[in-house]
Amino acid sequence: MIDTLTRIKEGAEQNINRAEDFETLNEVRVKILGRKGEITQVLRGLKDLDPSQKVEVGRLANEVKDGLEKLIEAKTQQLKARQLEMALHSERLDITLPGRPVQAGAQHPISRVADQIKAIFTGMGFTVAEGPEVELDYYNFEALNVPRDHPARDMQDTFYITEDMLLRTHTSPVQVRTMEKMAPQLPVKIIVPGRVYRKDDDATHSPMFHQIEGLLIDERITFANLKAMLMLFAQQIFDAGVKVRYRPSFFPFTEPSAEMDISCVNCGGQGCRVCKQTGWLEILGAGMVHPRVLEYGGYDPEKHTGFAFGMGIERIAMLKYQINDMRLLFDNDKRFLQQF
Ligand SMILES: [Zn+2]
Repeated sequence: MIDTLTRIKEGAEQNINRAEDFETLNEVRVKILGRKGEITQVLRGLKDLDPSQKVEVGRLANEVKDGLEKLIEAKTQQLKARQLEMALHSERLDITLPGRPVQAGAQHPISRVADQIKAIFTGMGFTVAEGPEVELDYYNFEALNVPRDHPARDMQDTFYITEDMLLRTHTSPVQVRTMEKMAPQLPVKIIVPGRVYRKDDDATHSPMFHQIEGLLIDERITFANLKAMLMLFAQQIFDAGVKVRYRPSFFPFTEPSAEMDISCVNCGGQGCRVCKQTGWLEILGAGMVHPRVLEYGGYDPEKHTGFAFGMGIERIAMLKYQINDMRLLFDNDKRFLQQF
């Protein structure tokens, strides 16, 4: 038995040392230590031996078994190390290659213009106010003096969520929401930027666009105050030499109402393709807050007056940067956006 064990040990040691891969090594392990392996057979045969031999052979068999297990473990580690070594050498890594440049983002022209407009009006003492884009019919229309049967509520123009809830068609609901919160404090002096929604989609209209509007309510506010502030605004956002003019207009929530034009930023008023040969560009709507809107907001039209104005941010950006198609602002084409 002792000779058999010695033979098994020597044969196994040779086979383990010769193994070049995990598969061969595993075959050797099964052959020696597996359920029907050579050592396992010896251990099973112990019961047939004399008690005197049993102890000696049993001890030796276990020694051989332990020794071979350790040898197999060592060989496994050696094979793993070699495998890693080979993997490292087969993948070439050239640390002298230049890195890939990081792509830096830039501010979108709409955000840029919105920030400029906000800066001009906060410089005049206005604070920025915001409101929900999903709005109640009451704030979007009714409290702005747009009654139930007014054409501005047309299903063709407006995205309704329910009969009483819609995507706001302008930033004006924030006027009433702010007045409700502040009344009877004075002055109300806010600038309201935000997204608005209408069912329009062509080169100069988008179903989602951005407005910014202003509201000032105090005592003894007149149309002259409105004109002075908007003149300052036009000079700062476009050019110190820009001229402005007002044309009478109609909005349900202001009375009187006007459109403000600026002298064409492209031709300086001579007439060109951009201003359709008129020399003027329409940039915003404005007017004195309608007495009924003041009442809805909790102010007394006998004591308080105010003005409001609103403009499309895309329109200002297009004029300022001479962009001829509004859709360019929403395509997110980097070649376009990198120009600002
Ligand atoms: Zn022009």
